[in-house]
Amino acid sequence: MHFNELNLSQELLRAVDELGYTEMTEIQQQSIPLLLEGRDVVGRSNTGTGKTAAFGIPAVESITEADRKSAVVLILCPTRELAMQAAEELRKFAKFKEGVKVSAVYGGASMEKQIHELKRGANIIIGTPGRVMDHIRRRTLKLENIRTVILDEADEMLNMGFREDIESILADVPEDRQTVLFSATMPKEIMALTEKYQNDPVHIKIKSAQRTVELIEQFYFEVAMGRKTDALKLLLAAYKPASAMIFCNTKAMVDQLTEELVKSGFRAAGLHGDMKQIQRTQVMNSFKNKTAEILVATDVAARGIDVSGVDAVFNYDLPQDNEYYIHRIGRTGRAGRTGTAYTLISGRRQLYDLRAIEKYTHADIREMPLPEKSDIIAMKKESLVKEIAETQAGHNAYDILDRLASQGIDYREAAARILEKQLRAETESLPDFERAKPLKKGRNSGAKTVKIVINIGRNRRIAPNFILGALVDATGMTGKDFGKIDIFDEHTTVEVPETEYEYIIDSTDSMKINGNKVEVKLYKGGESGFRRSRRPDDKPHFDRKKAAYGGKKKSEIYSDYIPNRKKRMKKRH
Ligand code: ADP
Ligand code: MG
Repeated sequence: MHFNELNLSQELLRAVDELGYTEMTEIQQQSIPLLLEGRDVVGRSNTGTGKTAAFGIPAVESITEADRKSAVVLILCPTRELAMQAAEELRKFAKFKEGVKVSAVYGGASMEKQIHELKRGANIIIGTPGRVMDHIRRRTLKLENIRTVILDEADEMLNMGFREDIESILADVPEDRQTVLFSATMPKEIMALTEKYQNDPVHIKIKSAQRTVELIEQFYFEVAMGRKTDALKLLLAAYKPASAMIFCNTKAMVDQLTEELVKSGFRAAGLHGDMKQIQRTQVMNSFKNKTAEILVATDVAARGIDVSGVDAVFNYDLPQDNEYYIHRIGRTGRAGRTGTAYTLISGRRQLYDLRAIEKYTHADIREMPLPEKSDIIAMKKESLVKEIAETQAGHNAYDILDRLASQGIDYREAAARILEKQLRAETESLPDFERAKPLKKGRNSGAKTVKIVINIGRNRRIAPNFILGALVDATGMTGKDFGKIDIFDEHTTVEVPETEYEYIIDSTDSMKINGNKVEVKLYKGGESGFRRSRRPDDKPHFDRKKAAYGGKKKSEIYSDYIPNRKKRMKKRH
């Protein structure tokens, strides 16, 4: 559906046209008509689907001559960037319409300037909840004429702890207002807000997540512990994305990684919430105008920022939330173009976490071997051949060759030296390391098994499901990764795939079973191998007599226990 099929004013149609929009996105098609009618709406749609225009066009359209003096539309956004960005976009919609004054209010910027703007009769206010509250308290923003409140990225605002501010603002706005809520996810908390503050809202849910995700090719790389940065440098050198976003989970990691990349000659810039406003704007601009080709960011800092044309997304850290994975990789492959997402994982825990993401998103995330330095050199050679084949020699170059020849360096030798120099310059800083040992995925299916032993048994009223539950929790593996469990008086043995036992022992370091801190070792047969009397956490009521025989009585073995797979699987999801 085209914008001009809507009942919009000529001024708005002209602005939309100038922006190059022709077809509406799904969320726009469904929400704009309702919003123009004044209905309350809850809109759920993924990042990059044009939500700003979905609420921004009706907001601008609603402004009339009578609104010249006071705030009538209030839009809340989670971050300064989003507020600025939305304000910028709304000003574009308002370009040909007189009397629309958009003002952005957010922290980290001059209060005076904002107050001045508000006083001069801004009628659409876009701000972060904290700063909006500030202005309300100072009476520099009055809510009595507000007739539309829009919460953009509502889920993120709640995540960031703005619930109280939001509720306080909503409680103060006149009751006969229109309340609009946009969100990429719809957790319970949002439903509660909807119930409490909206009036007969229309729910719109656009299922575009799957579609965009399907357009994105997704790969993962196994990297040895502590070598993710090196791996990333190799990948960037190998794939040479013209623009890439790299996601980390912490601000410290953003800073550290950005510094490392810059040191290695990549044009990278970092973005996170602790940076000053000016810095953040600079970073965004440098990425948009391609002075920086790599943007390293946290989820929150990147959320909702309109960056288009990203060739590749790298998950340096696995996202802490499955939904974040979709948001992150949605940065690439926008507007029907295919993109690529790469995820780095170290160790088995992360492999299992990645499997969980794969299941959640129904995506196909394929493993790829990391390129090696020699692969990249080979690629560079290829591109050098191409490059040189396409270059014309200038007259200045020949006399250099002649002078070299007079020193006994013939053309072939001279060319080799020049190429060598260039190749070295381009690949010298690349890390050279072996690929991580592949983690075996075909567990338990005929694979060799060993036994681990846990120093707890029937004496502590242990049942097989306690053991299995604790192991699954500690390792992130699934119940079916574990084999037979034998419970003795003082210890328990569990059959595990040989390839996994070291990982299991590592990750059960602080495991507790039934409240008891336990120790886990490789089982060598015979007795449990634990020297009980020297263990500091042996309980005083411990029956030493029994312990002397406990490990040997094969007849007392708990019957072969094969875990109830279905039940266990269900419990984890
Ligand atoms: P969201 O808030 O859903 O993440 P945005 O509102 O930031 O998405 O829009 C993402 C991008 O799509 C922006 O660059 C915006 O200008 C562009 N866009 C929005 N609507 C349309 C449209 N109908 N046609 C073309 N581009 C659009
Ligand atoms: Mg948005």
